[in-house]
Amino acid sequence: MRKNLCKLFISFLIFIMRNLSFFSVIIIVVFVVYACSPKPYSTTNKAYRKQVKEYTKLILQEPVDPINDTIKMPPFWVGTTNFGIRKPNFVIIHHTAQNSCDQTLGTFTTPKSAVSAHYVICKDGTVHHMLNDYLRAQHAGVSKWGNLIDINSSSIGIELDNTGFEPFDSLQINSLISLLARLKKDYTIPAANFIGHGDIAPTRKNDPNWRFPWKKLAEKGFGLWFDDKRDTIPAGFNHIQALRIVGYDVKDTTAAIRSFKRHFLQDTTKRINDLDRSVLFNLQKKYF
Ligand SMILES: [Zn+2]
Repeated sequence: MRKNLCKLFISFLIFIMRNLSFFSVIIIVVFVVYACSPKPYSTTNKAYRKQVKEYTKLILQEPVDPINDTIKMPPFWVGTTNFGIRKPNFVIIHHTAQNSCDQTLGTFTTPKSAVSAHYVICKDGTVHHMLNDYLRAQHAGVSKWGNLIDINSSSIGIELDNTGFEPFDSLQINSLISLLARLKKDYTIPAANFIGHGDIAPTRKNDPNWRFPWKKLAEKGFGLWFDDKRDTIPAGFNHIQALRIVGYDVKDTTAAIRSFKRHFLQDTTKRINDLDRSVLFNLQKKYF
C-alpha cells in the first residue's frame, strides 16, 4: 500500500517537474521524502498517544467522589493550589532475555505481551526511552522489597539487551551509567534504591545476570557495596534477618540467599558460606 503510494508520488513528481516552477518542485520533493521515509512504529506510537490522552483525562478529574454514604461531604469542592507530580523513587535493572534490541522493541509494542520498561539499552549503547518517566511501566511483576509491593508504581524500569547468558558490553554499561546519573539527579533517588529485578523477585527472576557490574555501579553511587576490610561476624548474627533488613523478601530463604549472592558475590550457588555472611553483616552494619 505504502509502496504503491510512493510510486504514485514519484510519477506525479516527474509530471510536475515538467510543468511547475523550481520552488514548487522543491516543496513537493520534501513532502515525498517525508511521506516515504520509514516510520516502523507509527501505529504503536499513535496507540501510545491515545493512552496518554486517556490518563490526562483521569488527572483532570476533580476529586469530588464521596468516600461512602455515611461520610459527610462539603457543599463545595476546594482544590489545593499547591502540588506537584509524583516522582519515581527506585530504579530496577533487568536483562531482556531476548535475542536483540529489535526483538525487545517488538515485545514492548505488542499489547498482548503486557510488558514494558521505561528504557531499553542496546548492546551498542543506544538508549530507547519508550515511556515517560512519570507513567507506570509493567516491568517488575509480582515483587517485594522491604514492605514495598507495587514496585511498578514507584520505579523506573531499565532493560539491557542481553540473552541472560552474556557479559554486558562496555558501551551499554556506559550509557546505563549516564542514564542513572540523570535519573538520580532528576528524581533524587537514594543510592540504595538502584537494584535488580532478581533482588525484588528472588523466586522468579535472575536478572540482570551474575556478570552485571554492580560493584562498578556502586562506586558511582548507584546501589550499595561492602567494604574490603570487614569485622568478625558476631556469634548471634542471623543472616536471614539481615537479608530482610537489606530489603530481600525472605519468604523463600534459599531464593533470597541465591539472589543476594548473585548481586554481591557474582556467585550463582544457593548455600550461604562464611564469606557471604561477612559481606551481609558488613552491609547491615554499614547502611542499616
Ligand atoms: Zn526483568
